[in-house]
Amino acid sequence: MKFSEVVGQEALKQNLIHTVQEGRISHAQLFLGPEGAGALPMALAYAQYLNCQQPAEDDSCGTCPSCLKYAKLIHPDLHLSFPYVRADKEGDKTIAADYLKQFREAFLEDPYLNYNSWMQALDAEKKQANITKAECMDIIGKLGLHTFEGKYKILIMWLPEYLRDSGNILLKIIEEPPAGTVFLLVAERQEMLLGTILSRTQLVKVPRLETDDIAVYLRNALELSDKEAHSVALLSEGNLRAARELVQHEVSINEQLFIDFMRLTFKGDGLGIAEWLEKITELGREQQKNFLQYGIHIIRECFLMQYGSAKLVRLRDAELDFVTKFSPYIQKQYVADFNRFLNDAIYYVERNANGKLVFHNLANEIERLLQLSKRSLAATV
Ligand SMILES: [Zn+2]
Repeated sequence: MKFSEVVGQEALKQNLIHTVQEGRISHAQLFLGPEGAGALPMALAYAQYLNCQQPAEDDSCGTCPSCLKYAKLIHPDLHLSFPYVRADKEGDKTIAADYLKQFREAFLEDPYLNYNSWMQALDAEKKQANITKAECMDIIGKLGLHTFEGKYKILIMWLPEYLRDSGNILLKIIEEPPAGTVFLLVAERQEMLLGTILSRTQLVKVPRLETDDIAVYLRNALELSDKEAHSVALLSEGNLRAARELVQHEVSINEQLFIDFMRLTFKGDGLGIAEWLEKITELGREQQKNFLQYGIHIIRECFLMQYGSAKLVRLRDAELDFVTKFSPYIQKQYVADFNRFLNDAIYYVERNANGKLVFHNLANEIERLLQLSKRSLAATV
């Protein structure tokens, strides 16, 4: 991956690029950064830059044969090591390379993966992963081979915290690696590392992300508004994963509220609607607004489903299920009305109108629209 694909961390990127341009490349480096700061993607971008055949002033080219292989993690001189689950038997010789396919997939899907999401990808959440002695022996063997395609032979070891004592086997090769070999260890927790390894590496500190950098990411990648992006970014404390999870949580709350709302108004369930109104009025104004915006988004998706569009892949499973069932009731002639009522509600919420009244009116209007829809649908059948 290119540096430009790594979120934020501009100062560190500049720094790393300068050291390469000045030929100061330490043969053993420890990229140390907390979860969600991007130490792993940063190490990958650095490795790609080191081997790029036409590096620019500020990034790898992304198009040379080396970069293309790096982008898929298939460069023959890029070696990846990481914790994995070994078989439950004596003398087990499982190594990280046995899980390389899964690791490539997991990383390419989310370069900000963590130990837990990796275990999930391996379907091994309840097991303990390690980087074993067999793996260390394999690393020594691999790096001892002299065949080279790129400028550097690079080993990226993700989460050396899971090395245990067998890591000491690596001390010699880390201290005196074969020419052109670079070790990049990528860790989250310094206190869990072997002191012997720590003392043999040069530290590259990857700080927590800046709030603004996370906000930019949320706006671009998850289509949040400026205000939402900023408030989520503040809560995330520089952790990109945490930021994404906060957004996910908010979406699932809105999803449930909206599905309930449509179901209850569809049935004209007065008692259910009254209970629903209690729930929505307990939320803050910003959350109420988010809910309404989410509603507009889902109505639009229902409309697109009804009248054909490829954009639907953006929906998550539960949403898709709802949209599929509900879209027949979002007919062309009423779409503008649905939108108008939801937008009106946003207008009133923003102006501090009484929440209960706003949502009570909204429920009445939506119920009426759904009745009209049902009738016109029945008439066309
Ligand atoms: Zn390149």
